[in-house]
Amino acid sequence: MLIVTCGEHEIDGAVAMSAAACAGLRVKRLAPMSEQLVAALEARPTVVLACREGSAAVAATRVPCRVFGDHPGMAWRRMLELTHAGGAA
Ligand SMILES: [Zn+2]
Repeated sequence: MLIVTCGEHEIDGAVAMSAAACAGLRVKRLAPMSEQLVAALEARPTVVLACREGSAAVAATRVPCRVFGDHPGMAWRRMLELTHAGGAA
């Protein structure tokens, strides 16, 4: 799992890291402007979670991946949270 969050969404990234650790997933976290982003995406993570800025950065790389983020054409990452909250919105 790859998490791409900016400083403004630090808490979202920390929650995602914590959830991934609890689930026993191998997880890496990068900032949207990280020079390692393309290489991390090309390593084919199972899933990418990204904030708005992270989503834009991931989309800009044009590396195909399964991403949940806040960007046109992407599954909305908050949908996952709603799913795990038992559908209560
Ligand atoms: Zn952000």
